[in-house]
Amino acid sequence: MTQLNTDIVVVGAGASGIGAALSAVENGVQVILLEKGTKFGGAGMFGAQGLFAAGSHLQQAAHIDYSPTAAYQEMMAYTHYRSNTRLTKAIIDKSADTIDWLAKNGLKTELVNNTQEVHQDHPRVYHQYLDKFAGFQRLMERFISFGGQLFTQTSIISLDYQDGTIKQVLIDHNGIQQPINCTKVIFADGGFVGNTKMVDHYLKINSENLYSMGERKATGDGIQLLNQLNADTSGLGTFENHAASVVSKADPKWHNNTIFSLTNLPFLWINRRGQRFVNEDIVYDFALWGNSTYTNGGYYYFVLDQATISYLKTNQLNWTDSFERTFKTLSHDPMTHTVGPFSEIESDLKEAIDQGAAVKSETPEQLASALKIDSKTLKNTFEQYNQMINNGHDLEFNKDDSFLRFKVADGPFYAIKAQSTTLGTIGGVAVDDHLHVLDKDGLIMTNLYATGNNASGMYDTSYPTLEGISCAFAWNSGRIAGEDAAKH
Ligand SMILES: Cc1cc2nc3c(=O)[nH]c(=O)nc-3n(C[C@H](O)[C@H](O)[C@H](O)COP(=O)(O)OP(=O)(O)OC[C@H]3O[C@@H](n4cnc5c(N)ncnc54)[C@H](O)[C@@H]3O)c2cc1C
Repeated sequence: MTQLNTDIVVVGAGASGIGAALSAVENGVQVILLEKGTKFGGAGMFGAQGLFAAGSHLQQAAHIDYSPTAAYQEMMAYTHYRSNTRLTKAIIDKSADTIDWLAKNGLKTELVNNTQEVHQDHPRVYHQYLDKFAGFQRLMERFISFGGQLFTQTSIISLDYQDGTIKQVLIDHNGIQQPINCTKVIFADGGFVGNTKMVDHYLKINSENLYSMGERKATGDGIQLLNQLNADTSGLGTFENHAASVVSKADPKWHNNTIFSLTNLPFLWINRRGQRFVNEDIVYDFALWGNSTYTNGGYYYFVLDQATISYLKTNQLNWTDSFERTFKTLSHDPMTHTVGPFSEIESDLKEAIDQGAAVKSETPEQLASALKIDSKTLKNTFEQYNQMINNGHDLEFNKDDSFLRFKVADGPFYAIKAQSTTLGTIGGVAVDDHLHVLDKDGLIMTNLYATGNNASGMYDTSYPTLEGISCAFAWNSGRIAGEDAAKH
């Protein structure tokens, strides 16, 4: 076995791991960066398109009046002061500098309009990556130019840690076990969304109802090692609820554009008991839409009748697909604020039925039976909803009047199942504002750090509506940990 020596081992080469590793080598120490997969980047590269900042030069140039203090106060109001105040402040205070730091090191961003419909009145905070993949490549080249070493297909196996000292790290490098001597370890391996057992145990949702778009290789390896060392893992329950998706159990890769778009519109939604449960125009805020789905046990159905389907087949509708702005911002295309016509809607619905994601029934009674819902409740929901459309106002949940257009009255009826969707877990081990891991007594576990999705503290029970905040947390927590580990 070859003995490796370095100052710092960083576990995981996603957004926070690259942030940590590059910051550390910039500050003059040796770093080995471990990446389980064949490629670096993690969800921070393959999934994310941008990050939050408050007070960046780009915002100043665009005359956006949004200070770190304003952002901090907004975050505290959202979390009811149940987040780690020092950590939150540290992340937000560093966020503007990180935009410059990323650009200086090769990953430029542009300040764009907020990418969700309901955030248009909020000061612009979303810094969208430019030339993302090449930018990540440049960051990695910069890390290597400082003498940093990247080991792909490499995982940490064990950590011998006693009385605040790291005795040894054991890694599996391409199937070969190797020990590393180092003084500090930064765990940046992206949380645990890829670990079904941990998801079932900690997230209080049946993983069958949770569709994950997150990093599959994030299987909680670092969190489990730290847990064995008595780290405070009481905050593991938080995850990034993000919108809702129609999913085929038979074929997880199944996608159907019509069904995708219909899911992103505020038709009638019912829960598993056949009741409405929310103003369906919550669809325009991804975090709140996701939270509402989660609160209802992880799924709901949106319901359409034949008259609606016939209308959508031949007519354009002046509603906005809630994802249109996200995609149009990315491609720099103008918004249409319209959907349809969906000329293939009938065959697309049939496909959803064949995939087990939708049901079709001739009558409300049959639909109730197919969904195992009390038929009286369902009929009552339809009647009330249709009555509200007649009156032009949603007296129940106050959905905007403009969305009260489609009654559910003429069979056949279609119910399409939308389920909770996540971009990853965001509850990890407790950390302080330097990203030191804390033990169950709240004391610093010297020389151990956790960053990105491995660290908890900035969120309360849910992902905030501030756009790009999870990548901002990843980059900034990584940078803070890397700098601290290098300097102390
Ligand atoms: C589809 C999608 C879109 C998103 N869009 C946005 C967005 O626009 N803005 C935003 O703010 N956030 C977004 N997010 C969330 C954001 O990507 C994450 O919050 C962020 O990437 C977390 O950073 P991380 O470093 O903790 O994890 P990651 O970036 O996922 O990196 C973790 C890395 O660790 C590696 N790893 C795992 N286990 C081990 C191990 N044992 N040893 C070594 N390596 C290991 C993984 O392979 C991975 O490369 C999105 C997420 C997804 C999935």
